[in-house]
Amino acid sequence: MAFELPPLPYPMNALEPHMSARTLEFHHGKHHKAYVDNANKMVQDTPLAGKSLEEVIQATAKDDSKAGVFNNVAQIWNHNFFWKSMRPKGGGRPTGDLARAIDESFGAYDKFREAFKTAGATQFGSGWAWLVFEGGKLKVTKTANAVNPLVQGSKPLLTYDVWEHAYYLDYQNRRPDFIDAFIDHLVNWDFAAENLVRARAQRTAAE
Ligand code: ZN
Repeated sequence: MAFELPPLPYPMNALEPHMSARTLEFHHGKHHKAYVDNANKMVQDTPLAGKSLEEVIQATAKDDSKAGVFNNVAQIWNHNFFWKSMRPKGGGRPTGDLARAIDESFGAYDKFREAFKTAGATQFGSGWAWLVFEGGKLKVTKTANAVNPLVQGSKPLLTYDVWEHAYYLDYQNRRPDFIDAFIDHLVNWDFAAENLVRARAQRTAAE
């Protein structure tokens, strides 16, 4: 089974005005697709062919000679996760268990929001900002280029992309404005809440 480009979980124009159809056409149709095409070429006829994204990520993360495969395969996974981290009319404050977990881990929603925005705003160059579950707590992290929390032993709950291709058409160099729009209008808290339930269950099962 070759890697595939999954369709977006919403129409191209569904995130406007915060993320334009033109941005999604390029970001999903060109950038994400290129990672899929490159990864398929790279693993073809190698022992990695037929393995899942997660398996290839773990198998290549610590091997410098496989950096090209890792970068492309991790970027497929990261983008799959990013599309699900957004929804039309999303954003604002979470509710329920997730809201309680954020209050317990960060002190208050506003402190979480500041940390989550700062992570993406201060990532030098390309990368990702993450809300993760680690050691029974929620944390904010950032990663460079294609790196993701799967290789750092934590469970991702939510992400946003700070590669310039994620925001340049809509926001040019104003990355902080893109981050504000993501947090206030695009975050899919239901997706993060489902990921938290799964991460807690895996932790309980592992104990
Ligand atoms: Zn991207």
